Amino acid sequence: MEQALKRLQEEIRACRACVERGYPATPPPVVGLGTRARILLVGQAPGGMESDSRLPFSGPAGKRLFTWLERAGFDPERIREEIYFSALTRCYPGKNARGSGDRRPSREERALCTPFLAREFALIDPKLILLVGQMAIEHFLGKMPLTQAVGAEFEEEDRFYIPLPHPSGASTWLNSPENRDRLEHAIRLIRWHRTHLIPSKR
Ligand code: SF4
Repeated sequence: MEQALKRLQEEIRACRACVERGYPATPPPVVGLGTRARILLVGQAPGGMESDSRLPFSGPAGKRLFTWLERAGFDPERIREEIYFSALTRCYPGKNARGSGDRRPSREERALCTPFLAREFALIDPKLILLVGQMAIEHFLGKMPLTQAVGAEFEEEDRFYIPLPHPSGASTWLNSPENRDRLEHAIRLIRWHRTHLIPSKR
């Protein structure tokens, strides 16, 4: 599995399908590191900092996400080994028209890129999948409000899906105390699954 995943990563890094079709995504594609991970995390798309560092969730949103994961029991030094970081699209989409945040990758860009995610999913065969943000949640679980998704777990074919809000500072969703409670519940769920379903590598 590990070698096949590394080959797939090389294929993703070489992809320029969006650019060739005139979509405004900016390579290089960003891929995860944890080729032995059994937990999959799926975000929306890399940000500008991730595009520069070529490391998923290496910007301010990633810092916030990592504090959640640490509270869910992950060793900060090993998070990128224990979790495989993936996304719906792998190239920086650029700023949105208002300049207030990053552009959401279009349906067409997602259609081009998500087959990579499907292949990663098949190789990793994860039992726990963390879905970060509305777009990733919708891709796997269908349309639903964040208030319904975050704090709940969804089981399908012996796999558990746990939604999280997007950790971007631009999101105001966590300003509400009720939503912060939902996030706390999600963190407890992740902690439980990590302990009970995923064999410890420590
Ligand atoms: S976003 Fe995905 S499909 Fe589009 S160029 Fe980047 S890697 Fe290829």
